[in-house]
Amino acid sequence: SLSIGIVGLPNVGKSTLFNALTKSGNALAANYPFATIEPNVGIVGVPDARLGKLAEIFGSAKILPAKVEFVDIAGLVKGASEGQGRGNQFLANIRETDAICQVIRVFNDPDVTHVDGEISPRRDIETINTELILADLQTIEKALPRLAKESKFNKDRKVVLEAAEAASKVLDGGTTLYASSLDLADLRELHLLTAKPFLYVFNLDADELTDQELRGRLSELVAPAEAVFLDAKIESELVELPDDEALELLQSVGQEESGLTQLARVGFETLGLQTYLTAGPKESRAWTIRKGATAPEAAGVIHTDFQRGFIKAEVTSFHDLVEAGSLAAARSAGKARIEGKDYVMRDGDVVEFRFNV
Ligand code: GDP
Repeated sequence: SLSIGIVGLPNVGKSTLFNALTKSGNALAANYPFATIEPNVGIVGVPDARLGKLAEIFGSAKILPAKVEFVDIAGLVKGASEGQGRGNQFLANIRETDAICQVIRVFNDPDVTHVDGEISPRRDIETINTELILADLQTIEKALPRLAKESKFNKDRKVVLEAAEAASKVLDGGTTLYASSLDLADLRELHLLTAKPFLYVFNLDADELTDQELRGRLSELVAPAEAVFLDAKIESELVELPDDEALELLQSVGQEESGLTQLARVGFETLGLQTYLTAGPKESRAWTIRKGATAPEAAGVIHTDFQRGFIKAEVTSFHDLVEAGSLAAARSAGKARIEGKDYVMRDGDVVEFRFNV
C-alpha cells in the first residue's frame, strides 16, 4: 500500500506526533485481522460519515474506514545528503515512500532548544528542501554518464536524458521538482525525492491553532502543497482519551477535528487516492483506489482473484442508495447499474462485484 514519509529537523515534535499516530493505528488495527504494524509505521483512519449511514441501512456489525500509512523517517539533519548523521539510511528510507510530509516547528518553548537557534518555519523548510534537492542532484549526476551512453543509439533513452538535464537545472536553481512545471513522467525511473508530492504539518502552540492570520501566512509559504495545523502535544493527549473527553479537549482549543484526522484526509488527497464502498451485515467498508481506477482494478483491492475473475459490478451511488433507503428499493427504482470492465470508479460508489473463481 502507499505510504507517506514523515521528516523534519530534530526537536520539532516528530516523535510526539508519531507516537500519537501509532496509538491511533493500534486502535484501528484491532479491526483489521491481518494488519501487521511495524514499529516505524503509524496508521490513521480516514473518517467517513457515509460508512455510518451504510451501517444503518445494512445493519453492519463493523465499520472499516480507509486508512493512510505514515512512516517515521528519522535522521534528517543538515548535511544528510552528504552522509551526515544517518544520512544514507535516511535517503534510502525516504526513497521508498510515495509522498513526503514535513513536520515544521512553530511552537515556542524555551525548554526545547531549536537546532538552529530561533524558531523560523521558512528557514527550516529551506533547510529540509536543500537536503532533498542536493540528494536529487547527486542521483542525477550519477545517472547522467549512463543515460548519455544509452541515448546515443536509443531515442527513448534520449528523452530521459533530456528530462534529467532539465531537472538538474531546476534543482540547481533551488526549486523542488514537484513545485516545478516539469513533466515528471520521464524522470520516474530515477526515483527522485523532490518529485514526490509534499505536504506540511505545522506544529503550533495550542493558542495559535485559531490564529487565522498565522495559518494564512504559513499556508502561503508552502502553496500549492497542502498544510495541516496541529499541536502535537495535544494530539498525544487526545489519543489517550475516551471520545467525549477528546471532543471536549478539542473544543477547548477551538477545533472540531483532531489534527491526525485532518492529516489522514490531506494525506489521502495528496497521494491521489479515492475510495469506493461496500456494505453488508458483516461490515461497511471503504476501500482505497487510485483516482481513475477501473472496476476490475477496484475489485483487485479486495482480492486479486476478484480482479482476475471479474465479470461485472453492480454499482449504486451512495446518494441514490440513501434516498431509496435499501439496496432492494434502489434496484427496483433502476438506480443499481450493472457496469463492465471499462467502468471508471467514482468516489462514493457502493459496489457489489460478480466474479468467477
Ligand atoms: P523530534 O526530535 O522532532 O522527534 O521532537 P520530539 O517529539 O521528541 O519533541 C521534542 C520536545 O518538544 C519534547 O520535549 C516534546 O515534549 C516537545 N514538544 C513536541 N511538540 C510540542 C508542542 O506542540 N508544544 C510544545 N510546547 N512542546 C512540544
